[in-house]
Amino acid sequence: MGIHVKNYLLRTSVVVAAASVMLSACGGAAPVGTTTASAGLYEFDEQAAAVARAESLGHACVFDGVEVRYDFPQARVDGCEQREDGTIVVMTGPENQPINPSPWYAFQVVAAEPQTVALEVLALERGRARYNPKVSTDGASWQDIEHSKSDHSIYFSLDVGPQPVWVAGQEMFGNDDYWQWVDGLAREYELRRFTIGYSAQGRQMPALVSYGSGDEWLVLIGRQHPPELTGAMAMRAFVEEMLSEGAEFLDRYNVLIAPNLNPDGVALGNWRHSTGGLDLNRDWFDRSQPEIAAVHTYLQQIVAEGGDLVYGVDFHSTWRNVYYTMPVDYVARESTFSQEWLQRLGAAVPYEVEEQASAAPGRGIFKQYMADEYGVHSVTYEVGDETDRGEIDTTARAAARVLMQYMLER
Ligand SMILES: [Zn+2]
Repeated sequence: MGIHVKNYLLRTSVVVAAASVMLSACGGAAPVGTTTASAGLYEFDEQAAAVARAESLGHACVFDGVEVRYDFPQARVDGCEQREDGTIVVMTGPENQPINPSPWYAFQVVAAEPQTVALEVLALERGRARYNPKVSTDGASWQDIEHSKSDHSIYFSLDVGPQPVWVAGQEMFGNDDYWQWVDGLAREYELRRFTIGYSAQGRQMPALVSYGSGDEWLVLIGRQHPPELTGAMAMRAFVEEMLSEGAEFLDRYNVLIAPNLNPDGVALGNWRHSTGGLDLNRDWFDRSQPEIAAVHTYLQQIVAEGGDLVYGVDFHSTWRNVYYTMPVDYVARESTFSQEWLQRLGAAVPYEVEEQASAAPGRGIFKQYMADEYGVHSVTYEVGDETDRGEIDTTARAAARVLMQYMLER
């Protein structure tokens, strides 16, 4: 399998070259004005967006008139090869190691003549085949692809032609999509939209605040792990339901919405980490990564100004739907908050609601940080990779409604 090593090294050098282009484009223009709770509204930074788009220009592999492109944000290809039987092998490698083996991939396929191509997505290093392939002709609506899997590879065939088709491990939703989404919500619901911080590579992290009449806050965060798109779907549905149906709740509570905490990882198609090479959801105590430090600074500012952080929800994806909570006896304040909310959710949806409570003192997970730093409960809201998309939406909307009911009764 020496071909993989050769191509992987080749692509690594291309990535390094792209990174140096980005650094020079950012030269001397270090981000300033990290936002605090009382700072003003930031406008979308066109220059930063252009840098993000320019970072992966000109990446493609071509075999017998079939082109595999990975020249767009969220794309992830770390080498290609063609087997003797004609199968095009598209490789994805981890951004660094050790890492949770969840290989993300996203690319386009285009061919001069219409044809059916055999494709294999191969996870390099210790990657395990995880995300089932999806196809799109517009980058917006997606369909599952019939496929088979081995330990490291996913196999399928695809009808291609002159119009590029997207192939990805999940329905893509990128940095620009987040800005459009928060801009739309800010306009529709008259929310404060701002940049809560900057990533290691200088990308803006979008945030929204809905201000209530009191000092109590609900904190919603997402996308610490770039490929976890089903968690991102749940967060979007949850937030939209809260804003559209939660007038009474929003009169009372302040809500911080920070949906995209790892914009570098999203842009680069990382498997899991920040460009600092770390799992952001292990960094909440060290705060060595600027993405986490920025959110921490904002939360500290809320508290310094007399705010009371009441609860937090952190959206993720894993193999199945599960809610990771803190044990009732770990946090004394409103010790059964998560249990009561999730019981109500279980009664509201025709799906199983599984809760698992555990503490990991010293491990920099958001819910552990909320418990130890602020003395409150919170939840890691995990959505299965292949959970039915309608179920994700229904459950997330019900979760928002019953959480608001529960919090209004406190
Ligand atoms: Zn995660």
